[in-house]
Amino acid sequence: MSRRFSGSKLVAATHNRGKLEEIRHLFAAFPVEILAAADLGLAEPAETETTFLGNARIKAHAAAKASGLPALADDSGIAVDGLGGAPGVHTADWAETPGGRDFVQAMTRVWRELDAAAVPEPRTARFLCTLVLAWPDGHDEAFEGRIEGRCVWPMRGSQGHGYDPMFQPDGFDVTLGEMDRWEKNRISHRGNAFRKLIAGCFGPEPA
Ligand code: IMP
Repeated sequence: MSRRFSGSKLVAATHNRGKLEEIRHLFAAFPVEILAAADLGLAEPAETETTFLGNARIKAHAAAKASGLPALADDSGIAVDGLGGAPGVHTADWAETPGGRDFVQAMTRVWRELDAAAVPEPRTARFLCTLVLAWPDGHDEAFEGRIEGRCVWPMRGSQGHGYDPMFQPDGFDVTLGEMDRWEKNRISHRGNAFRKLIAGCFGPEPA
């Protein structure tokens, strides 16, 4: 049995605005105030582990300890089959530039590397998400979600964030970048992990 969440405030242990907005949207129906790590002045810890779970744990525990409140971290990324699962835990790193994160550059790199390796279409991939809810006493609960699909080119859509414009989920003819927040959260890796978190720690979703 997972530990239940029984408070009114939760720290979103992310400095990623796109994730923060999705987490706020996912919690909209719950009586929980979502505080952003950046707004609380919390430092961004180094993600030194080799798994989504390991890195989510680092972020959740650092924020819970620093704030004295339960904290929810998301570690996620895209795993492309034709690239041996890359960029995987390095998904954010592929977007790094001296001037900040550039996801057009990152998506272009994915497509170029698929071309260079002559990977046939469909160029299958999945988004993976691990959510970790950590308490200041050191306890945590972890939940995983995924969404299967394919990489497409050229990129399409300006909604969502990160690699959304180049990912077309199975069963859809639009990319995540062409979906609104409701539609994306209903099917996404983060939405799937979130529903497990709710079932495990928050009780049934209000009707
Ligand atoms: P993290 O902050 O180390 O977990 O980095 C996750 C990376 O995966 C970031 O570059 C995100 O933009 C990307 N990513 C995670 N979830 C999504 C998503 O829902 N859509 C697009 N990109 C995502």
